[in-house]
Amino acid sequence: MLDALETVLSARLYRRAASTASTDAIPIACLFRNLVGLARRPIRLCAAAGYDSCDMLPELRITLLGTGTSHGVPMIGCTCDVCRSDDPRDRRNRPCVCIQSRQGAVLIDTPPELRLQCLAFGVRRCDAVLYTHHHIDHVAGLDDLRRFNWLQDAALPCFGQPATLDRLRQMFPYVHDDDPSYPSAKPRLDFMPINGPLELIGHRFTPIALWHGEMPVIGFRVGRFAYCTDVSRIPDESWPLLDDLDVLVLDALRKRPHPTHFNLDEAVETALRIGAQRTFFTHIAHELGHAEVNRTLPAGMGLGFDGQTFYCR
Ligand SMILES: [Zn+2]
Ligand SMILES: [Zn+2]
Ligand SMILES: [Zn+2]
Repeated sequence: MLDALETVLSARLYRRAASTASTDAIPIACLFRNLVGLARRPIRLCAAAGYDSCDMLPELRITLLGTGTSHGVPMIGCTCDVCRSDDPRDRRNRPCVCIQSRQGAVLIDTPPELRLQCLAFGVRRCDAVLYTHHHIDHVAGLDDLRRFNWLQDAALPCFGQPATLDRLRQMFPYVHDDDPSYPSAKPRLDFMPINGPLELIGHRFTPIALWHGEMPVIGFRVGRFAYCTDVSRIPDESWPLLDDLDVLVLDALRKRPHPTHFNLDEAVETALRIGAQRTFFTHIAHELGHAEVNRTLPAGMGLGFDGQTFYCR
């Protein structure tokens, strides 16, 4: 199954890498994937993984649209090695994931660079948004959802905990106001409280209760994929929801401890206990350089990177 979980950078990311970084700064494996990426769709990878055509792909295609912490990487005004790195995997937008099936696409969170992330990684459809919590690095791009209203000529359901939706109404009051002085182009969003698993794009999305410091937030499981960002503790009742995963994406902010995020050691320890076939870390600060840290991680684990795509049952 590991072959089926092969990861790729999108063609666009490679083009950007090729134009902004010297080739000797890109690892050999990256260059190989670059050639595959030029096909624009990873059909050759399907064959390599034992699938004869894209109709036979596993059900879920998951793309990490952003893997950075709230400041993003590079950070404004920082001259550290990671912020000046030529490795495209060290350029991290704020956290977001796109989950696609043959029936549609779901975004988890709407970070401030949402428009740029959708353009960079070919997201042209969104059937629903799931919110993990209301922190600004996860919601600031909400207005960019307007574009999907236009493309699909429909309102967009946005699911979250009731407290998250209340905060979104406070942060974006114009969305549901009848203010006649506001220009017409508001996003059409239906805020829907999450009370349990949701059926979306032909799959069941199960919320996972998590603690982000003292704040209750949620992650999500769909099929054998789970996404747990902004977490510093997993409550007892949530561990069974993390059994038998192909891929786990888990918060790992930095090496030093932090009151509301797993640091790298805590994330690795948690990932070992969960035991997913592969674990990619996200919400990464500038203290963690991609290549350097990946050399130190246990087998089956790695820092995620923007544009990373994998397939899941
Ligand atoms: Zn830096
Ligand atoms: Zn947060
Ligand atoms: Zn965050």
